[in-house]
Amino acid sequence: MALAEPGMEEYPPEMESHGQGGKEVSKLDELISKFENDKSWNTPERGGGRRFDKELIWIRGMIESYSEKLNIPLDEVVDSFEKNRDYSWPNYYQKAHFPDLDKLEAISVYETLEDFKQTNKRFKCPSCGNVYEDPTRCEHRIKEDGICDWTAGGLFQIGLHHVVIKDMTLVPIGIFQPVTENNK
Ligand SMILES: [Zn+2]
Repeated sequence: MALAEPGMEEYPPEMESHGQGGKEVSKLDELISKFENDKSWNTPERGGGRRFDKELIWIRGMIESYSEKLNIPLDEVVDSFEKNRDYSWPNYYQKAHFPDLDKLEAISVYETLEDFKQTNKRFKCPSCGNVYEDPTRCEHRIKEDGICDWTAGGLFQIGLHHVVIKDMTLVPIGIFQPVTENNK
């Protein structure tokens, strides 16, 4: 769901909530506080609180969970997400973009795309079982021979494996199950 973009405006500094005096503020705290104080989006609600109170709790929890489950420091997760964000935070930080890692069947983490390619060369189509070199499309789909039309589309599609490429984005990419010597 895309939200209309207002201009960027901040709440006055005295309204900012920093950690207890003098303590170092983590990048996550900084990020959440920046969003909390973004006056143009996080507008006061009539019944008290602000418009994105609930979403901000979800954003914090989601970032903590990515850090924990992918075993990547919190600061790095924040940096990576923010580096890849080229539009407003309320539109970017939505559940549809950041799947719940607990709901994915399998996740592998690689430093770079090259690392991934070197380790994974063949993939098994979850629909027809054909093994081919494309991680997201069945060979039959590419050849248009009518036998199988499978493609790694939906995030929670049955039989998908998920990979995280650290230097690209930490958001999992759905692929066919990689085939190694052991799991033919
Ligand atoms: Zn297939």
